[in-house]
Amino acid sequence: MDSLLGRVRAAVTSRWFVKTAFLSIFLVSCIQLLRFLAWARGAGPYVRRPEAVAGLLPVGHFTSFFAWVRGGGWDQYLPAGLVIILGAVATSLLLKRGFCGWICPVGTVCEASASLGRRLFGRNFVPPKPLDIAGRAFRYLLAALAVFFLITVPVQAATEFRVLPYMWTADMKILLQFGNPVFLAVIGVALGLTALIGPFWCRYLCPLGGIYSALGIASPCAVRRDAETCIDCGRCSSICHAYVDVQHAQRVWNPECDGCMDCVKVCPVDDCLVAEAPGRTRIAAWAWPVLVVVVWGLIWGFALASGNWNTPIPADAFKRIVESGQLETRTPGGF
Ligand code: SF4
Ligand code: SF4
Ligand code: SF4
Repeated sequence: MDSLLGRVRAAVTSRWFVKTAFLSIFLVSCIQLLRFLAWARGAGPYVRRPEAVAGLLPVGHFTSFFAWVRGGGWDQYLPAGLVIILGAVATSLLLKRGFCGWICPVGTVCEASASLGRRLFGRNFVPPKPLDIAGRAFRYLLAALAVFFLITVPVQAATEFRVLPYMWTADMKILLQFGNPVFLAVIGVALGLTALIGPFWCRYLCPLGGIYSALGIASPCAVRRDAETCIDCGRCSSICHAYVDVQHAQRVWNPECDGCMDCVKVCPVDDCLVAEAPGRTRIAAWAWPVLVVVVWGLIWGFALASGNWNTPIPADAFKRIVESGQLETRTPGGF
């Protein structure tokens, strides 16, 4: 019975299970947005506009987030965007980039592509160290530029951005780009490179990943290695998808660590490699994703209960914007 419980617990707290669950929620939300758009165009029945699609527009909502931090007030129009950013920041700060490791749908697709590459070619071809360092530095430069822009844009301009009809329908425009062959080709190239060399987008280009990595350095929870009991088998470093040299670390400070727990699970020596909270409180490998989901769920649940998740913008207002012809691209499916 215990082993059955253990297997169930290991399955539902595995990375692919948790990440696929979040990816599925996101994909269902995107499909619902397309159905909402079809309704707005008079081509289908009414469905409620999903709020989780705010994740399609992270930079726009980051602008709103920094405006809130700087005293510009909460976004009263599309608050779900702020809630998602708040959840990503909290899970990154508390649990080593937990958002990237366990939640981000884009990261999940990239990892699936990298995994496919390993199956096809036997491995991902990691770039030489100087190139890898230059690529990572480039991502941090992009992150620094993004933060610089976001904290210098006048608060009034950032809050006025929230009331623009462009902002309200930007998620639809992004989704409709999936009917654009050039956009699809760019995604195809990025996924192809990811299959070849591993986390190409996440490691070298994603500015949000750079911000979350920087936050993750301050995480009070991290993986710690006991050098006394370590047998130097190297399994932890080999399995790490973020290429962290766990085998020679005392505490994993590396900003690329996203708390995936793969190294902890693979270590053959009991209590040698463990995840710890302050006060050397041990966090079981299965409990780490539970904490990520709980932090995320608490923020989302509080926002929902306090009326800070759903947009108060009436569906007819979105319909009027769509009818005004601002969304010109149509998908092959007729949405
Ligand atoms: S690096 Fe960017 S795309 Fe990758 S998992 Fe993190 S936020 Fe998502
Ligand atoms: S394998 Fe270990 S060091 Fe590497 S990302 Fe996962 S938790 Fe961090
Ligand atoms: S897997 Fe465990 S025993 Fe092996 S090198 Fe890593 S920490 Fe040491």
